[in-house]
Amino acid sequence: MDHFAYRDGQLYCEEIAAGELADQVGTPAYVYSERTILDHYSRLAEAFAELDPVICYSIKSCGNVHICKLLAEQGSGFDVVSGGELFRALQAGADPAKITFAGVGKTDREINEAIDAGIGLFNVESEAELANITRIARERQTQVRAALRINPDVDPKTHKYTTTGKRETKFGVDLERARRAFEDFGRDKYLRLIGVHLHIGSPVNSVEPYVEAITKALALIDELGKAGFELELIDIGGGFGASYWEDQAPLAADYAKAIVPLLRGKGLRVVVEPGRSIIGNAGILLTRVQYLKSSGDKQFVIVDAAMNDLIRPSLYQAFHFIWPVCPAGGLVAASREEDLRLEGTGLVDVVGPICETGDFLGLGRHLPAVQRGDVLAVFTAGAYGFAMASQYNARPRPPEVLVCGADYRIIRRRETYGDLIAAER
Ligand SMILES: *Cc1c(COP(=O)(O)O)cnc(C)c1O
Repeated sequence: MDHFAYRDGQLYCEEIAAGELADQVGTPAYVYSERTILDHYSRLAEAFAELDPVICYSIKSCGNVHICKLLAEQGSGFDVVSGGELFRALQAGADPAKITFAGVGKTDREINEAIDAGIGLFNVESEAELANITRIARERQTQVRAALRINPDVDPKTHKYTTTGKRETKFGVDLERARRAFEDFGRDKYLRLIGVHLHIGSPVNSVEPYVEAITKALALIDELGKAGFELELIDIGGGFGASYWEDQAPLAADYAKAIVPLLRGKGLRVVVEPGRSIIGNAGILLTRVQYLKSSGDKQFVIVDAAMNDLIRPSLYQAFHFIWPVCPAGGLVAASREEDLRLEGTGLVDVVGPICETGDFLGLGRHLPAVQRGDVLAVFTAGAYGFAMASQYNARPRPPEVLVCGADYRIIRRRETYGDLIAAER
């Protein structure tokens, strides 16, 4: 799952004790394991190897330029959803031909930047956007490649805010409209509409929604072929799960086992856009206990990380396993479980200092006794952790640290008070 493990009663990230790291870099801090990132990337690449896919790491899950660079060095491409993410990918040394650009609201400026960079594929989300990119490409007398994002009306059984492939969401076009869009835009010589794109949601912790969505996409591709549109590409998106608790998400090999047979021998270039499954388990958030407080029969553990650092619990009621890096009495959790109740633990809410009731990292957790100064690890925080961090309550954002074996590098420094107002000067 990852390279965060307890040895002799304390948590290690690869070969470094998490507690020592917290002392050295301060808290809160995001800590990533390079070995975990590389493991997850290579497992995915191996699982889908038969299809020789273009793997486009989804930058929005965790866009640190050093992490992107690490992945670019493995041959990864990038899925970007804004001009800023395109900038990040290029700064990381990405091969532009392996960049895909999705998103429902691409501006002219962003479209032009992507054309300037020579990206491989626009994933287009509406007829209006098709018309606009076609216009820009024609004005510039240049050819762009695009895939139409279809909305297969499949329920990925995940949180409604991260469901993207159902009819009522804003993403893509439904199958009926897709047929018409190809009729209207599929023969343009400036915008070459070469494929279809899907991204049904995140996380999708089962294979069935993929099978259902890809089957629908293939039927459409088939039908379009008969109508004279020879498509060459299918982009199956991302959404593969990460294990927030033990064995929650299928393995890359499980997804591949269901998906590869569908795409085998179809003569289609396959693109996958994993984010969370690469980086989710590869990051933790370290935070220090500030105060303990009880109120009635409730016990609060007040820590120095907050919803501005990690918003997923507040935003999606997302679960992150939390445990002290040096648990009292050597009370190490043998596995990360959603409702773990070890003997000798007490029921607490782990909350941040922000002035919102919704500011919590975990509610109703059975944790070993902690005291002021103890360091807690919030697990599986690599994806949509730092990427969604803000400066709310004028809190400088935490640093990001990349561990490799017994070494570590600060790949983003802790922000200063000066950073809070730098753009206001
Ligand atoms: C967010 C997103 C992804 C990545 O999703 P994960 O769940 O992180 O794998 C891939 N493709 C598109 C279009 C996205 O918006």
